[in-house]
This record gives sequence, C-alpha cells and structure tokens, in this order.
Amino acid sequence: MEKLPEGLAEALLPWYDAHARDLPWRRDATPYRVWVSEIMLQQTRIEAAKGYFLRFMRALPTVRDLAAADQQTVLKLWEGLGYYSRARNLHKAAKIVVERYGGELPADAKALRSLPGIGDYTAGAVASIAFGLPEPAVDGNVLRVCARLTRCPDSVGDPKVKRGFREGLRERYPAGRCGDFTSALMELGETVCLPGTPDCGACPLAAVCAAGRTGHPADWPVMDEKRPRKVQRRTVFLLEHEGRVALVRRPDRGLLAGMWEFPNVEGELDEAAALCQADAWGCAPEALEPCGRALHIFTHLEWHMTGWRVRCGAAPDRFTWTTARSRAERYPVPAAFRAYKEQI
Ligand code: SF4
Repeated sequence: MEKLPEGLAEALLPWYDAHARDLPWRRDATPYRVWVSEIMLQQTRIEAAKGYFLRFMRALPTVRDLAAADQQTVLKLWEGLGYYSRARNLHKAAKIVVERYGGELPADAKALRSLPGIGDYTAGAVASIAFGLPEPAVDGNVLRVCARLTRCPDSVGDPKVKRGFREGLRERYPAGRCGDFTSALMELGETVCLPGTPDCGACPLAAVCAAGRTGHPADWPVMDEKRPRKVQRRTVFLLEHEGRVALVRRPDRGLLAGMWEFPNVEGELDEAAALCQADAWGCAPEALEPCGRALHIFTHLEWHMTGWRVRCGAAPDRFTWTTARSRAERYPVPAAFRAYKEQI
C-alpha cells in the first residue's frame, strides 16, 4: 500500500481552524460527551444527531447518570435513531465504567476497546479527541480520504486496508493536537471529500492527493459489491380497545431487542387471515380496515409491511394496552413502525 503523504497535519489543521463546524459535542468535549456523540454518529447524520445528543445530555449528563438509568429510559431517549444495540451497549458500558473505573472513562485505547459497543473507531475517537492521544479513528469518511490520497487499488472493505491506514495515520499524528487532527480528517470527509462529488478545488490536501491529480477522484475508493438485502413480508396490527392500543415488547436479543412494537406476524395477511389472527389472539375483533403499506430498510434486511387496524371487543393480557401519553413517556417504538405510529 502507498504511504500516506507527509505533511498532512500541517496542511489540514489551519484549514480546520478556519472551517470547523460548531457542533454541540465539540463544545466541552469531555470523554463522556465525545463517546456518546461518536456512538450516535456511527449510523446517524450529524443534523439528525444534534437534537438527540442535546436531549440525551440534558436527561443523563454524566456516566453515572447513564449507568443508574433503567434500560427503557435509555431506549426512549434513543427512539427514532435506529440501531438500538448502540444504546443498549452504551448503557452496559456505562455500568462497567462506574464499577471498574470509578465513573471515569479510561484514558487508554485498549481499555476503551474492551467496553461493549466500542470498537477501534470509537476507541480512537475518544482517545484522541477527549484525551489527546495519537490514536487514529478510521470511519468510512476517513477511509475514503485515505484511499484517495494514496489511490489505493484495494477494496476499502478489506480489513487489511483499514488496518494499514490506521497504522499509517498513527505516524502522522501531530504532538499536542491529536484530537483536532482526528476531527479535521472527519470534517474533510464529511464536507469536502464527499463520496460522489469531492470538491478538490476547496481541499487543503489537493497538493498531496494522488486521486485528486487524476481529475476523476470519485473513482476511489474501490468498493466490494454489496450483497442484496433479505426481504421479509410482515403484517402489522393496530389493535384498539376502548381508546388504548396494543404494544408488545420484543425479545432481549436480536433485531430491535427490548423495543416495543405493534403486534405483527410474518407474511402478508389478507382481510380474512388478519381477522383470524386477531381472533386467535383473543381480541374479539369487531371491525377491521387496512391502514396502509410501509417499507423499512435495515442494514441487511427489508421489512415490507401491510397494516390492519382492528377494533377489538377484548383486551387480552398477552399485549400491553397503551394510551397516547404512556406511549410518549414510556414505550420506545422503533422508527420501523413510524407509518403506523402516525395513525394513532
Ligand atoms: S484533493 Fe479531492 S480527492 Fe483528494 S482528499 Fe481532497 S477532496 Fe478528496
């Protein structure tokens, strides 16, 4: 693999000083705030994460507050962000930080990596941004920038390539400004060296960038072909009884673990089959009407959903019968069900 060019920090840091965006987690970048923001940003756009981050910090301002919260509170604060295992791991890790490290995140990338939900990327981000250590944080944006700087011929999906860039970057970390260097690389990938349309004219690294010089930098990075997602058809029920709506808690493991959902079954049920299903649950269905189709895309899976709204004569105990208020305050319902949530 080609070496990363010399002088990266010298070129990047003045640009970062002039262009860094004012983001909530950059103000008062404590280890806890950096950690929570990095976990949120793993699968969420910056604009969408800002409001969630501020709300999370208001509700749980310290590691100890997070450790002491119950899981439903944490999931409720995460409701709508998706990838809920991030929130569950954050919660588990906070308890370990309190028990093992007295409530302070360890200033050591290896110790950080041993915590649930913290991989190489997050450990590098927290270690460099919060503790000033020369630990690279290579996410998709940084990987793209590095692949272009070196015109990397190998797929960036290959773990060896990522490892190589991490080691290469480590040598480029400038003493005294490790956190800013990490943030500057991320900022460049997020605002200038964009996936389809890199703005090389505005880039502080243009003079040292191998892909930029070719005139068609968007040809990098080389990527693996994506595997097609599995499609699953589901039928979702809005079961209503005397102004309450049925919810059920998902199992503690697997997809959307511990979240609440509208009762649903695999397959696309027609009216007669949906009626039978509601009856089999003991809901004594009185009337039934369609409530639309919806699509939700997970990383490796698509749910193609059909909905039925059912007026029920009975409220069996197998479900939790909720009011609008209790749903808003207590029951985190994932964004996968947004189209149905909006109807009640
Ligand atoms: S010169 Fe162009 S391709 Fe190279 S890092 Fe800058 S924006 Fe990306």
